[in-house]
Amino acid sequence: MPVCPRCASNTRTFKVSQVYIAGITSAENRSEADRGLLEVVFGKADESGGWNDRLTAFAPPVVKPTTAPSFPPDFAVFLAAMCGLEFFSLRFLDDTRLALYGYILLGIAILAYILGRRKILERFRVPTREAKEEARRVAGHVLRWSRLYYCERDGCVFDPARGDWSTLEDLPTYLSAG
Ligand SMILES: [Zn+2]
Repeated sequence: MPVCPRCASNTRTFKVSQVYIAGITSAENRSEADRGLLEVVFGKADESGGWNDRLTAFAPPVVKPTTAPSFPPDFAVFLAAMCGLEFFSLRFLDDTRLALYGYILLGIAILAYILGRRKILERFRVPTREAKEEARRVAGHVLRWSRLYYCERDGCVFDPARGDWSTLEDLPTYLSAG
């Protein structure tokens, strides 16, 4: 195990990802080694003893859900349908057959839109540039997270290649810096 830059010891250093994965594994599927690891990191207390809350500090960063602003086509279709109704009712008021024909065409168009709506809406849901950048940034942080170690002696996290360390609480800051 790599040496902790804070206490210069490697007797109680563990991979952060290993601690986290051992913790999220259900108790019945947990190996003897994982059980031992969790006991060293969190003490004798089990899930019911509250270490589940402390486990979240070891979690990898996740992409925050972003709401992509997009113009919903529903409103545009609604407007077009209203214009169509108006057009046929005013222009061809005296020709009922033509008006009826227009209404049927309009009805078919609206029906086609309703049936194909899901596919049309999917095209509008293009990831924004910001969402893509956020995903790329978080992916980089997850990569850094996978290289981190935790020292149980002083509760710090460190990347052996970096030589500096951070408290477990400041893990997100440590991942975004350097
Ligand atoms: Zn240490």
